[in-house]
Amino acid sequence: MCGIIGYLGDREATPILMESLKRLEYRGYDSAGVAVLELARPGEEAHTTLTKSEKKVDTLISKLQANMPTGHLGIGHTRWATHGKPTYINAHPHTDCHGKIFVVHNGIIENFAELKAELQAKGHNFTSDTDTEVVPHLIEANYKGDFLAAVRAALKRIHGAYALAMFSTDDPELLIGARLNAPLVVGLGDHEYYIASDITAIIPYTKRVLVLGEGEVAAVTPLGATVSTLDGITVQPKLIHVDWDVSQAQKSGFAHFMLKEIHETPEAVANAVRGRLTDDGIVSFREFDVDDEKLRSYNEVLLLGMGTSRHAAMVGEFLVEDWAGIPARAEDASEFRYRRPTFGPKTLAVVLTQSGETADTLVGLHRAKERGALTVAVTNVFASSAARDADGAIYLHSGPEIGVASTKTLAAHMVSLSLLALRLATVNGRISLERRHELVAALRALPDQIRELVDREPEIAKLAKRYSRYRNFMYFGRGLSYPVALEGALKLKEISYVHAEGTTGGELKHGPIALLDKEFPVIAICTASSTKDKMVSNVYEIAARDAPVLALVTAGDHSLDGVAKDVFEMPAAEESMAAILNTVALQLFAYHVAVELGQDVDQPRNLAKSVTVE
Ligand code: GLU
Repeated sequence: MCGIIGYLGDREATPILMESLKRLEYRGYDSAGVAVLELARPGEEAHTTLTKSEKKVDTLISKLQANMPTGHLGIGHTRWATHGKPTYINAHPHTDCHGKIFVVHNGIIENFAELKAELQAKGHNFTSDTDTEVVPHLIEANYKGDFLAAVRAALKRIHGAYALAMFSTDDPELLIGARLNAPLVVGLGDHEYYIASDITAIIPYTKRVLVLGEGEVAAVTPLGATVSTLDGITVQPKLIHVDWDVSQAQKSGFAHFMLKEIHETPEAVANAVRGRLTDDGIVSFREFDVDDEKLRSYNEVLLLGMGTSRHAAMVGEFLVEDWAGIPARAEDASEFRYRRPTFGPKTLAVVLTQSGETADTLVGLHRAKERGALTVAVTNVFASSAARDADGAIYLHSGPEIGVASTKTLAAHMVSLSLLALRLATVNGRISLERRHELVAALRALPDQIRELVDREPEIAKLAKRYSRYRNFMYFGRGLSYPVALEGALKLKEISYVHAEGTTGGELKHGPIALLDKEFPVIAICTASSTKDKMVSNVYEIAARDAPVLALVTAGDHSLDGVAKDVFEMPAAEESMAAILNTVALQLFAYHVAVELGQDVDQPRNLAKSVTVE
């Protein structure tokens, strides 16, 4: 999820690794490290020097400057912890029992626990809590004199997501990269090669880049780079020429981090599901491992959050009630903390915070704990305050989010809550196997559906351009589309500073409709649901007041043709997945309105990414 750099070439590796890690810092990380292979001097054996820091890259650089390893092959890493706290021991690179094989990794090894147990049984000695450490040990276990073959054999056993850079002290002229569900590129220089998770790392050195495909391995030697599959079949990699500057590269060529992060939503959703769902819809959370009987004993679910996380909480409320039949309530954490609590040890309290540091939400969490509730934090940041203080954690695994306005992490929050609701529904015997199969299929289809939707960004941009002249917007929906409407309005307010509100279809006639006229457009969320027909009637009422309507409808639904001013067709999806798709569409809409108005999308005025004060 964070940064990888590898170097093999004529120059000294250490300064290049240091500079590249500095350039990767913008992504956010918690610890860093490098391994450099130092060639044998007379009377000495080749050996690798490992330097790590549990703090910032600058601390690592000071350590390196005090004791500079010399050599032409090395790897470096900035870590965004997913398994194991951000400590010195857990910082990458990781190595095998004999300190010969060195590995840096981005992503999550889903089946690391079983692999670790198997390797430990064979006598392998593990020193960290990371999932990553199984990789060097597994390569060691498969090593029969051919490093590349051992890497391939090891990777065949690994499930999940990885971008890896690796070398072995026994092979001083071989740098290996591999990827699955996580990005990795190979940079081609002049008598030198780079492996990087992010083009930013290598942009000053080369413009020629090979993009690895899923499940491909790159073997880099002084003679060049060859790419093959895990079965050893050579593939012709895609060579691209990048002419970005560093700032463009940080955003992968997107104009803003927010847009890049919206485009990362498919991966964020896949990461939130990864390793947690069986084909039969049985859900398990590694860091929230409560047995079925205990989980059944909770008769109320309280969901706390602020801002976008509060909207996620509202989605959770709906799903827990609808699927699991358990009373649920979503609360604004800042209000909740001052109320007189009416819940206790039979309550499951779910706190939602991307950063894990949201002050109001943390107080809510502490209050829930004091009352004896079982608490679980749904958060993106490993070992954050919320994750540490709660009884359990469900990590989003979205990778760093830099844009102040949350995007991909909301989708990950919504997916995580649907998994939690599914788990509660299953332990309470409220959901059939057939329905579980339906939900598994829907969750697995979602990343591709989101990908198709974000590919239609130009259509949304065109609409946004037309609507950007209005100064007020009303968003509305029913059921799950209500929090989606609130979120759509919030996103527009946050980044474009245009007034927007969200309401329910039913509430509209009880006041808000008075605002509407031809200068007050309405965004109507009318995708397939049990209340869709009611929404259609509401749109007729609005159209009668001359307000321009932009309606989101399910593909093939023509009931609003000629009534709404604009109709945007969304992919057909299960209702809870449609909520996520609708959210993404409205994020893109808000983004393009803000861009049209020339606003600072990534750093909107008056807002901070993590609100750590009350
Ligand atoms: N899962 C690995 C860890 O926790 C890699 C994290 C990363 O992508 O930085 O160490």
